[in-house]
Amino acid sequence: MSVWDDVVGQEPAVEVLRTAVRDPSAMTHAWLLTGPPGSGRSNAARAFAAALQCVDGGCGRCHDCTTTLGGTHPDVTYVATEGVVIRADTVRPLVELAQRSPSQGRWRVIVVEDADRLNDTSGNALLKAIEEPAARTVWVLCAPSPQDVLVTIRSRSRSVALRVPPVDAVAALLVSRDGIPADVAGVAARAAQSHVGIARRLARDPEGRARRSAVLAIAAKIRGVGDAVLAAGELVETAQADAKAATEHRDAAEKAELLRSLGAEGATTLPPALRSQVRQLEEEQKRRATRAQRDVLDRAMVDLLSLYRDVLVVQLGAGVELVNVEHAEAVRTLAEQSTPEQTLRRMDAVGQARTRIAGNVAPLLAVEAMAIALRPQG
Ligand SMILES: [Zn+2]
Repeated sequence: MSVWDDVVGQEPAVEVLRTAVRDPSAMTHAWLLTGPPGSGRSNAARAFAAALQCVDGGCGRCHDCTTTLGGTHPDVTYVATEGVVIRADTVRPLVELAQRSPSQGRWRVIVVEDADRLNDTSGNALLKAIEEPAARTVWVLCAPSPQDVLVTIRSRSRSVALRVPPVDAVAALLVSRDGIPADVAGVAARAAQSHVGIARRLARDPEGRARRSAVLAIAAKIRGVGDAVLAAGELVETAQADAKAATEHRDAAEKAELLRSLGAEGATTLPPALRSQVRQLEEEQKRRATRAQRDVLDRAMVDLLSLYRDVLVVQLGAGVELVNVEHAEAVRTLAEQSTPEQTLRRMDAVGQARTRIAGNVAPLLAVEAMAIALRPQG
C-alpha cells in the first residue's frame, strides 16, 4: 500500500515526485502539476504532500499519511476555490503561512488546486513567497496547463505534466477502490473519457447516467429551429438545477454557521453591522453557483462532443472503440443521416459554444446558437 496507489496511469509523473521525496537534490520549493481535467491533479498533489510528510515516503498507513490525505494535517494547507478567481485576500495569509516552519511535520506544504484562477494581483502576491522561500516550505500549484499560469510563476516552478489516464486504468481503480462491478466500471470510465471523478459519479449514480443520456439525446431530437431553442432551454435549465442541487445545502450550512459565529442565530432582523458580512457571503455563494452552472454545462458539451466524435468514427470507418458504447444505436443512426463534413461542422459548433461560455457569454445565448447549428441541413 502506498499513497500513490490512487494516482492512476501517471507512472512518469509519479516517478519524478517520488524521486524528489527521496533525494534532496531533486527537491524544489515550487511545483506546478499540470494535466487535463480529471487527470487527477489534486489527487497527485495530495499524495505528494503525504509522501513529503511520511517518514517512509508515503506508506499510506501512518498518521502523517492519513491526516494529509484526509485534509487535517496541521502543516498541509489546501486551497481550492469555487469562485472564478482566487483573490489577493485569499493569498496573503498563505504568504505569511509560508514563512513559518512546520509545526510538527517534515515540511510545510501549501497546495493551490486552481492556480490558473490566480489573477495578476493575487498571482504577484504569491510570487514573492515563491521567490523567497522558507527552508521547509513547499508550494504545490495545480493547473490544466503551464500556459494557464502567470509566466512569472511558471518560470519559478518545476512543471510535472499529468496525462489523460488510460480507460482501463480508470476502470480498474473504480473496481479496486470503490467496489464497482467491472462491466459498469468499464462503461463509466469510457463515457467519462477517463475523467476519474466523473467516471466514479457515473458508475455510482443512476440519475447522473440518466442526465447524461438526456444530453446525448439532444443530437437526435433537433430537427428544426423550434426544437433547437427548446433543447437549449432545457439544457441550461438542467445545468441550473444541477448546480443548485450541488450548492444549496452547503450555502445554507455556511450561512447558519456565519450567523452563529456572529451571535445572531435565530435573530429576525440583523443589526446593520452584521448585514455586510452576510451580504459578502451571499455574493460569494452566487459566484460559486455561477461557476458550478458553467462547469455542468461545459461537461454536457464535452459529452455531446464525444457523441459526434463517435458518429465521425463510424462515418470514417475507423476501427476505434466508441466512447458511448451504450448509445451505439443512436450513433449509427446519426452517422447514416449525415456526412462527415456535417459532423465536423457540428463539432465546431459545440466547441464554439464552450469557448463563448468560458468567455462569459450568457449561457442560454451560446447554447441556443449551438443547438441551431446542430440541426440537419440540406
Ligand atoms: Zn506514511
